[in-house]
Amino acid sequence: MIDKIIPYGRQDITQEDITAVIEALHSDYLTQGPRIVEFESAFANYVGSKYAVAVANGTAALHLCTLALDVKEGDKVITTPITFAASANCVRYCGGEVVFSDIDPETYLLDINKVRALLEASPKGTYQGIIPVDFAGRAVDLELFRKLADQYGLWIIEDACHAPGGYFVDSKNKIQNCGNSNFADLAIFSFHPVKHIACGEGGMITTNDEVLYKKLLSLRTHGITKNEADYTNSVIFANGNSANNTSYPAWYMEMQTLGFNYRLTDFQAALGISQLERADEGLAKRREIATIYNNSFNGKSFIKGQSGVIEGHAYHLYVIEVEDRLGLYNYLRENKIFTQIHYIPCHLMPYYKQFGWKEGDMPIAENYYKHCISLPMFPILTAEEQKYVIGKIEEYYRK
Ligand SMILES: *Cc1c(COP(=O)(O)O)cnc(C)c1O
Repeated sequence: MIDKIIPYGRQDITQEDITAVIEALHSDYLTQGPRIVEFESAFANYVGSKYAVAVANGTAALHLCTLALDVKEGDKVITTPITFAASANCVRYCGGEVVFSDIDPETYLLDINKVRALLEASPKGTYQGIIPVDFAGRAVDLELFRKLADQYGLWIIEDACHAPGGYFVDSKNKIQNCGNSNFADLAIFSFHPVKHIACGEGGMITTNDEVLYKKLLSLRTHGITKNEADYTNSVIFANGNSANNTSYPAWYMEMQTLGFNYRLTDFQAALGISQLERADEGLAKRREIATIYNNSFNGKSFIKGQSGVIEGHAYHLYVIEVEDRLGLYNYLRENKIFTQIHYIPCHLMPYYKQFGWKEGDMPIAENYYKHCISLPMFPILTAEEQKYVIGKIEEYYRK
């Protein structure tokens, strides 16, 4: 018997994690201490990017990306409707326009052919960027997106919140990790507890572009710089109009752009570092769980589609598509299995409907939404619990 609720996702906090956080709390730094830099460099190393910038959460990461790319009023940015709203909202924070484009019914990812058709239908310069999402943990083929983006002069932000450790294989047969920024200008991750790595709240931006990297560092902390080479005010002014000193005083700093406080704390970084050490282990477990689901459901008449066993998939979610999804959802809930629906199509959120989006605009995404359900998927899901989940699903459709 199962006596506690089985959620669709949850964190795994070990004694090592707790010890790491306590150590940080006893240290001299609670925010922007040595653990931030350590976490950034460990994370950059994990995904294979040159730079990483730790921030308060995934949404802040997206906002800083649109700021760093100078998104402004009237800019048009393409994204998928099957994502968490933040992937789209970051464009709105800067006054840009979100243009949704439909998904591929097999991969559930932004369909590149539809994006191409959209771009071809308007003069060059109409669109400024694309935000593809590695939905559920399945890696977008960013090599193809880069080629298309380059034809139209677009930037790419990869929303890799679901996919730390995920990858696709490029045309030269090379593994390309999600977030390595070999093809995207910027990539972002979230450390919300349901994601692979938990910091409570937290996020990361990765990039290989030094100019964007420096902009992000500044925007993360009020647009303030303490780097003398960047100062624009004179030394004389900085010294209080005293001409006696030829260098900037130690207190001096300049606010040069309008930034935010989007910093992560040092004790959250401590948790992140500790969690990152187990990331590969967790990923292997997720892939095992996916294989068991896949093998249990293959060929079953109630299954219309499923995440499947896909190379490079990071399995933040395991999605199945079924008939009578509402009935199944309620039946599982009665049996203490709390599944979730990812996602209600973003273009049909009342906020986006005010811009003219309506039912029928994204037929594939809307049809997917009628049938999708995300099953429990997290590293500490036990074999017994998974068996129970699969058993209850089969039981429902036998009735
Ligand atoms: C979780 C998530 C975000 C936002 O991250 P937060 O840390 O919750 O702000 C953005 N995009 C996707 C696809 C996500 O799953």
